Amino acid sequence: MAQNIFDCPQPDENGYFGEYGGAFLPPDLEPIMKNIAEEYEKIRKDPDFIAELTDLYQHYVGRPSPIFHARHLSEKYGTPIYLKREDLNHTGAHKINHTLGEALLAKKMGKKKLIAETGAGQHGVALATAAALVGLECDIHMGEVDMAKEHPNVVRMRILGANVVPVSHGRKTLKEAVDSAFGAYMADPDSQFFGIGSVVGPHPYPEMVRDFQSIVGVEAREQFQEMTGELPDNLVACVGGGSNAMGLFTAFMNDETVAMHGAEPSGRSLEEPGEHAATLTLGEPGIIHGFKTYMLKDEEGEPAKVYSVASGLDYPGVGPQHSYLKDIGRVQYGTVSDKEAIDAFFELSRLEGIIPAIESAHALAHAFNLAKANPDIGTILINLSGRGDKDIDFVAEKYGADYGI
Ligand SMILES: *Cc1c(COP(=O)(O)O)cnc(C)c1O
Repeated sequence: MAQNIFDCPQPDENGYFGEYGGAFLPPDLEPIMKNIAEEYEKIRKDPDFIAELTDLYQHYVGRPSPIFHARHLSEKYGTPIYLKREDLNHTGAHKINHTLGEALLAKKMGKKKLIAETGAGQHGVALATAAALVGLECDIHMGEVDMAKEHPNVVRMRILGANVVPVSHGRKTLKEAVDSAFGAYMADPDSQFFGIGSVVGPHPYPEMVRDFQSIVGVEAREQFQEMTGELPDNLVACVGGGSNAMGLFTAFMNDETVAMHGAEPSGRSLEEPGEHAATLTLGEPGIIHGFKTYMLKDEEGEPAKVYSVASGLDYPGVGPQHSYLKDIGRVQYGTVSDKEAIDAFFELSRLEGIIPAIESAHALAHAFNLAKANPDIGTILINLSGRGDKDIDFVAEKYGADYGI
């Protein structure tokens, strides 16, 4: 590796990026998070840990993932467009980069079991994969409504040896699954490790998940220079919790000529509450899931109901470092509608022969919009965070008629 992935700017000792982040926890949990932060601080400097993770990235995940010059898209939009192919990773997305890191850390800390919630099941599958490889038990809590909707991922997790715990109270979706997983974790935090699925949650998770994902940008920076002799003029990534975006952005943070763009989902409507998940665009600072960040609030100040066609992007909060990067103006955040994302999904499929995840299609659509608005924008490097296999049935059923399917 050209540069150590753990060599990134860190938050302050309490886990703050500017005024965002920190750890807002029930007293029982404070010593547990402190212990994880301390152990992580040690391990991120341990050459054996770095070597083990690097080896898995190469031989298990299939890293480095290539950068592809998308010539047909470049021609159509009148500017050079490149894709960082995280869709080619084992399990089909960027999430494996951090679930492997979390699993290795849990193992080194002597934990027996990984525990997490999952909505659509992507995080659950990535964590179950890492648990199988590293040799840990794995409990994934999932709402019964989501289990019915995302049946193939339930089967995948079970094939991988994970225990899928059905959650049958309330609306039986992600929020109840979070509560259920958290309750089970608190019952035995000594032998279990909570595997968070993005750069969110209390300190040290935003920093830790970001570090594990930063391999994406470290590789991309070197590959892009090798291919073109220069740095990219623009980076674009979709933002749900924000892990694939932080993964790409981090290595370029000090490159002043590189503009960075995050794409949030405006869903069906930016005007109507509950019809989008544009947290940085329309939210305000608050505390959600144990950390301070921009968030979408309902009338009681609680996390609002949100929506996006991409289930990986419908979160009412966002990683705290994104909130900081928005405030200081280092990253520009914009929005992409369901319709624009689905158009981009088909455009990449038909112009380049690559079926993207609907989440990643938001990054594509944002890049296309930027190119249309500014003919002199220069080169654009898009993080293609995952592949669209998981989405094809849904897209064909819901949108197929409009696209000749
Ligand atoms: C989960 C997921 C996302 C959203 O997560 P971030 O933490 O915002 O990166 C994006 N793309 C794909 C393919 C995903 O599976």
